[in-house]
Amino acid sequence: MLSVETIVSALKNILTDEQVSVNETVRELHSKDESYHESRLPEVVVFPSSAKQVSDILKVANEFEIAVIPFGRGSSLEGHIIPVKSSITIDFSLMDKILEIRPEDLLVRVQPGVTRTQLNKELKKYGLFFSVDPGADASLGGMAATNASGTTAVRYGIMRDQVRDLEVVLADGRIIHTGNLAAKSSSGYHLNSLFVGSEGTLGCFTELTLKVYGIPEFETAARAVFPTVKSAVDAVTSILQAGIPIARVELVDEQSIEQVNHFSETNYPLKPTLFLEFHGNEAGLAQDVEFTKEIMNDNGCLEIEFETDTAARNKLWEARHNLAYAFIHGFKGKKLMSTDVCVSIKDLADAVLFARAELEKVGLPGGIVGHVGDGNFHTLVMMDMNDAKEIERAKRFNESIVHFAIERGGTCTGEHGVGIGKMQYQEKEHGAALDVMRTIKLALDPKNIMNPGKLIDIDK
Ligand SMILES: Cc1cc2nc3c(=O)[nH]c(=O)nc-3n(C[C@H](O)[C@H](O)[C@H](O)COP(=O)(O)OP(=O)(O)OC[C@H]3O[C@@H](n4cnc5c(N)ncnc54)[C@H](O)[C@@H]3O)c2cc1C
Repeated sequence: MLSVETIVSALKNILTDEQVSVNETVRELHSKDESYHESRLPEVVVFPSSAKQVSDILKVANEFEIAVIPFGRGSSLEGHIIPVKSSITIDFSLMDKILEIRPEDLLVRVQPGVTRTQLNKELKKYGLFFSVDPGADASLGGMAATNASGTTAVRYGIMRDQVRDLEVVLADGRIIHTGNLAAKSSSGYHLNSLFVGSEGTLGCFTELTLKVYGIPEFETAARAVFPTVKSAVDAVTSILQAGIPIARVELVDEQSIEQVNHFSETNYPLKPTLFLEFHGNEAGLAQDVEFTKEIMNDNGCLEIEFETDTAARNKLWEARHNLAYAFIHGFKGKKLMSTDVCVSIKDLADAVLFARAELEKVGLPGGIVGHVGDGNFHTLVMMDMNDAKEIERAKRFNESIVHFAIERGGTCTGEHGVGIGKMQYQEKEHGAALDVMRTIKLALDPKNIMNPGKLIDIDK
């Protein structure tokens, strides 16, 4: 059997000693993500500083047939970066340079370890911003690999919409580019789309060219309270149908509002609530706001409050962004499981009501929060990891929500990705297309060294 010493010695031939770690604490930090999935230590963690070094690492891994796990910030939620067997974890934190900002093209070129807040801090100097906003301060490499989205997807799109080009190191060490700088192209297969969302199973991203946007001249946020989840979702459907260019619209159910109030010291009414944000110029926004108020009232809105002041707006969105932490704080000793289905807007209200009813049935504490503008919602379920029956109930609950979504033409994951946790639903969701995915995976990574045991089961 291959010894760790042999691998480490081969890695130290291509990297400096400081770039290769078998330290227990370092391995522990790379053994788990933010999910409830059980951790496992990688054998060794490496910290490359260039695409050439990543390529050399993959050549070593290929020679020894040892698994490789790309690692951004470890904020994923489905066990994406947890080793399932002996592994080298590639941590991209040293590759954190913003390489080029092209304001006239609205493009940036970055290394994969750059985080979204790091990028936005730099872009602000140019009056620009990067739109994709998952709750955590994730790396852009990790966000591309999970096809992340979040609160702003309803207006600006998801990670896949922002990627113009990726530099990818393939499993055998070859370095390719998947796109170019052109705003559109009909040339060749659309490799950007294939690699975005590939969860480290097809290659390592070593450079990303991404779309950015001008910071809107004016922003307004609002909080609208509804008597029922159905009336809140109906209001969102009407807003979308009216073509109001809403930048964010989030549903927070009454149980989640309770946690928000405790954690963020707010005093919001315990009712289904929409958190909204509008971007544009002052005159256009004034019209949008009036029209929105009308639509809200037509759908039985009980109370609507607008915030234009930056501090008040930030407080409102901070409360929303802290929701997962509010639950974690409110149920100490328990672990959070988050469902992530996405359905058509028409099915959304039914799906949310179904999730709430199922949650009551299994008798676990939790709340529902949704990016309702695009049909994606999360049920945050708190469970005791020392109670096997409770874990089983939570898993059964998750399963029922997923089946409900897939049977209506939806998906098991709108933004978190498949990782370990959603692999079991891939057959049901993709049918024969899953074989096509297996063919692609094996063509690019015949030895299955890239993040094995995630996204796709190649042995079936
Ligand atoms: C509180 C909280 C809220 C969240 N809210 C959202 C949300 O609203 N929307 C959302 O989409 N997600 C959300 N997430 C999940 C998470 O932030 C995203 O999945 C994020 O994209 C992961 O980025 P990361 O840098 O942490 O990647 P990691 O967790 O390190 O890795 C994620 C995946 O990407 C792969 N990967 C990482 N870097 C590379 C690379 N350079 N090349 C190839 N593959 C790579 C890894 O192998 C792994 O499969 C949330 C997480 C938390 C903790």
